[in-house]
Amino acid sequence: MPLPTIKRVLLKLSGEVLMGNQQYGIDPEFVSELAKEVKAAKETGLEICLVIGGGNIFRGMAGAAKGMDRAQADYMGMLATVMNALAMQNALEQCGVPTRVQSAIEMDKVCEPVIRRRAERHLEKGRVVIFAAGVGAPYFTTDSGAALRAAEMKCDALFKGTSVDGVYDSDPKHNPDAVRFDTVTYDRVLADNLKVMDASAVALCRDNKIPIVVFSIREKGNLARVLAGEGVQTIVQDS
Ligand code: UDP
Repeated sequence: MPLPTIKRVLLKLSGEVLMGNQQYGIDPEFVSELAKEVKAAKETGLEICLVIGGGNIFRGMAGAAKGMDRAQADYMGMLATVMNALAMQNALEQCGVPTRVQSAIEMDKVCEPVIRRRAERHLEKGRVVIFAAGVGAPYFTTDSGAALRAAEMKCDALFKGTSVDGVYDSDPKHNPDAVRFDTVTYDRVLADNLKVMDASAVALCRDNKIPIVVFSIREKGNLARVLAGEGVQTIVQDS
């Protein structure tokens, strides 16, 4: 089934993609390239909400695996997403795109708190709204944050830009025979535990009928292609 007409999108970028070719952190040059892609997408008339992960800096699970308290580590992960949001805000504004960052953990010296009605107003005024700090609670991921913001902002689709070009029946990094789906249902993703987003994010999208489009953001120009319904991608929706 083709996607419905898309006017407002939630674009979720994994923190990893902000590293560029580095092993850790933020590569300002690469973030600047990403910002240009977001700008081009916006110039097609789309309203854009952005959510950026924090995996390039810190993941709660990794901290917990090394003996940290999980909730404490998750809060650190959420703070990492705020740093990424500020880096993207800087890059977008440097290429002339007005933005606002709204964080689920309030920090009024650096950004706004999440206020849905204010976010609506920003979008009406042509600003990109970057939602940071996930859902603002530990034991979640930014995928869940992205699904939540996509639902409350009534986005027509959630585009997940990551390092893989779609959803596979097994991990393509370990299985050379893995097969990529063009489309797959939410229920199959959940039943087969396919690695798209965590289950709470997929269920939230399913219950609110928000299609999820998984694509690689690492290739230049790919965001524009998938937004136009072209290029390599996997669409998760009801059959
Ligand atoms: N996190 C959290 N609650 C949220 C969102 C994020 O606790 O609502 C923490 C969690 O530790 C997570 C980290 O922030 O590992 C970074 O987010 P994520 O792993 O989703 O980033 P991505 O994989 O997209 O780069």
